[in-house]
Amino acid sequence: MMNENKRFMDPNIPDEMANTIRPKTLSDFIGHEALKQNLSVFVSAARGRGEAMDHVLLYGPPGLGKTTLAHIVANELGTNFRATSAPMLTKQGDLAAILTALEPMDVLFIDEIHRLPTAIEEVLYSAMEDFKLDIMLGEGPTAKSVRIDLPPFTLVGATTRTGLLSNPLRDRFGIDLRLSFYSVDDLAKIIMRSAKILGTNIDEAGAKMLAASSRGTPRIANRLLKRARDFAAAVGKESIDADTIKTTLYQLHIDNLGLDEIDREYISAIIKHYAGGPVGIDNLAAALSEPADTIEDVIEPYLMQLGFVQRTPRGRIVTESGYKHLGLEK
Ligand code: ADP
Repeated sequence: MMNENKRFMDPNIPDEMANTIRPKTLSDFIGHEALKQNLSVFVSAARGRGEAMDHVLLYGPPGLGKTTLAHIVANELGTNFRATSAPMLTKQGDLAAILTALEPMDVLFIDEIHRLPTAIEEVLYSAMEDFKLDIMLGEGPTAKSVRIDLPPFTLVGATTRTGLLSNPLRDRFGIDLRLSFYSVDDLAKIIMRSAKILGTNIDEAGAKMLAASSRGTPRIANRLLKRARDFAAAVGKESIDADTIKTTLYQLHIDNLGLDEIDREYISAIIKHYAGGPVGIDNLAAALSEPADTIEDVIEPYLMQLGFVQRTPRGRIVTESGYKHLGLEK
């Protein structure tokens, strides 16, 4: 996951700062209007009835606001927010400990829910459906099954790919929300909002310039804003102007469409080693020394959205526009 870290993590920004940038209410959450409207209806209805809101499945590529929305749901419901991530749950007991510690109406967020081991996923079924916990105590012939009542709660699951979720799990979510890449206008609004919180100046034209290089992703937009702020500070500028933005993008090797070195390496690997494709994901992962997951979750969705790459049953293919972007002919 090295590249994902490189692209999405920002070790220079203290957590408190990241937390202040994160929108806390639905009205602070920029873009995705239809999704917000629906969510606000479901939240008010649940609050009005005094019941736990139905379980929510959020899906979309990293950095589009899944964790943020999960926090917002808890905030708007006025309940506690508990979070975990599927790779942290290795035994049924790990999940049982979390579920039994919930208070009525709490929101439990499980990130990367497609990675739950089957045995743990099965515990989740009755927990989600009947608020009952069925677990086995002990092992071998003395093992016995016990059933524990749980408080009503709302599970918010996040996944980068719904295709990896089993049907029984997927069916237990009453609310299914898909986050897609953001428009340049919405990303520019996010940048203007974050700049205000960080106490840094950028005008609308500058925000749009940065937004256009943000791969449709709020997390990248915020990261670029912070780096541009650093480059402005380095030369003693009070504001982030067009020159600063150009320097920032140049120094970070980000091109006019927001593609970075990893994206370009991906396209050129298919062209150079596989004559433009088709090539299977595993060969590509080996050629790039990247986990297949990272390629599928982080690199490919945006390249496909740009129409530079196509997935076919026989593998990935670079399109004519993909060749063109690298200055090559198909
Ligand atoms: P995910 O869980 O999908 O990987 P996050 O919820 O962690 O993404 O979002 C990444 C960052 O982008 C957050 O810290 C938040 O500041 C910002 N962000 C995401 N979506 C929005 C939005 N719609 N409006 C404003 N900021 C957003």
